[in-house]
Amino acid sequence: MDTRRFLDPSTRLYALAADDIEVVCPRCAARALVVPQRVDGTSVLSWPRRLICTSCASTASWSPRGQASHWGAPVDPFFQLPLWLQADCCGRTLWAFNEAHLTLLHDYVAAHLRERARADPGLTLVARLPRWVKAAKHRDEVLRTITRLRQSREPARTSVQRP
Ligand SMILES: [Zn+2]
Repeated sequence: MDTRRFLDPSTRLYALAADDIEVVCPRCAARALVVPQRVDGTSVLSWPRRLICTSCASTASWSPRGQASHWGAPVDPFFQLPLWLQADCCGRTLWAFNEAHLTLLHDYVAAHLRERARADPGLTLVARLPRWVKAAKHRDEVLRTITRLRQSREPARTSVQRP
């Protein structure tokens, strides 16, 4: 596949919340997960969520009943905890929910030819990215930041696996 070419897969931000979202644990500041409790046949937005920290064993629940969700900021939409994957970049904040989100950002920013989605081209995640993320002059810094974010969640390994 030509990695310089990117066809918008029409992913919406909320669809990325169908997977775990990586956040900062409010109790111990380690990396915790907001895990969706999948309910078949219903919208991603209406699934209950569970906060799970394996470092300090903290847990919490979020229910769509009576609790709003908030989108478009560097917090998880449910508990509104700071995202683990966020960093200063080009004087702004680059953020992602999880690996799938980072991969989408990476592939989009790395591409030299960007094709719009055929369905709802104005509503997809990449179509709605801020201008500074899309700017060619920021490409290198954004890609470096994505690499840094990926490394930020790997536990310091003393024995690196070698091929
Ligand atoms: Zn914790």
